[in-house]
Amino acid sequence: SKTPVRVAVTGAAGQIGYALLFRIASGEMLGKDQPVILQLLEIPDEKAQNALKGVIMELEDCAFPLLAGVEAHSDPLQAFKDTDYALLVGARPRGPGMERADLLAANAQIFTAQGKALNAVASRNVKVLVVGNPANTNAYIAMKSAPDLPAKNFTAMLRLDHNRAASQLAAKTGTKVGDIKKLTVWGNHSPTMYADYRFATTNGQSIKDLVNDQVWNADTFLPTVGKRGAAIIAARGLSSAASAANAAIDHMRDWALGSNGEWVTMGVPSNGEYGIPAGVVFGFPVTTAGGEYKIVEGLEIDAFSQERINITLAELQGEQDGVKHLL
Ligand code: NDP
Repeated sequence: SKTPVRVAVTGAAGQIGYALLFRIASGEMLGKDQPVILQLLEIPDEKAQNALKGVIMELEDCAFPLLAGVEAHSDPLQAFKDTDYALLVGARPRGPGMERADLLAANAQIFTAQGKALNAVASRNVKVLVVGNPANTNAYIAMKSAPDLPAKNFTAMLRLDHNRAASQLAAKTGTKVGDIKKLTVWGNHSPTMYADYRFATTNGQSIKDLVNDQVWNADTFLPTVGKRGAAIIAARGLSSAASAANAAIDHMRDWALGSNGEWVTMGVPSNGEYGIPAGVVFGFPVTTAGGEYKIVEGLEIDAFSQERINITLAELQGEQDGVKHLL
């Protein structure tokens, strides 16, 4: 049987963590033949550490055959030791009266420390996924704080936006979500993201042709996908957690095991593709194989799309300017 791989998860006692860990341990992320060791990080706070103990008891009680070990940590230098995969879920939420600059600064502190810790102790091939918001900027901060690791190994989660868009398009076209191909989401994981179905097909038919309604695209589809997180909070009284955890599983599974030629969306550092300045962590269409992702190049960007891409890029660059002095 395979050697276990090490999977670090931060914010492990939070609500996304609770929807995520059991699925990683059951083999849904890295395959039903791949044993895993979970290295869980929580803040030192007694309440968080106790909650983490409870989650670990439940993991034990699931008796997952693939779960080769579970560790609880409060120090990233221990949690990230030799880790092959790191899912950075924990982040500072916006508190009452907290300004955007304060939020950026609080998260810059967390992700600078975590980037440095990954740089010091993680596997040299560690694959990092940032879920905690602002995800793209947090990934950028961690990447900049880890100069000895390949920058391309730092990614941000756009997959939830991708999956939300796929679900809306399946409903609109009356087809199955699994039949939808070549969808992508450009930019920041925020309401400014641009879900782009111009190239997408369902059962081989062009979705753009099937929908044939640019007003629906601009006035219904994009706002619905962009504000879906807020709609779930309004309905459930809590933020989306199971769907966020599911998207994290999808992102890591496809990165590790390959997308079989299909497009998926990942937030990855640009190399200048589509005029996005190098280093900006941006949602792109990618294909994955052999543990590597490749940005899909050469797509035509029309005027409407360019305008949308410019908006989400400007927001991201504003966030990055806001943390520059902290790096
Ligand atoms: P959640 O588990 O619900 O959310 C964690 C992070 O994921 C938040 O930043 C949240 O952003 C983000 N997120 C990204 N996409 C989504 C989405 N679609 N829906 C909801 N959230 C999304 O938060 P909890 O408060 O339950 O848990 C966070 C845990 O992290 C706590 O246990 C805390 O102690 C821990 N923590 C750990 C740190 C560490 O390990 N060093 C550092 C900081 C916190 P948003 O805030 O925008 O909803």
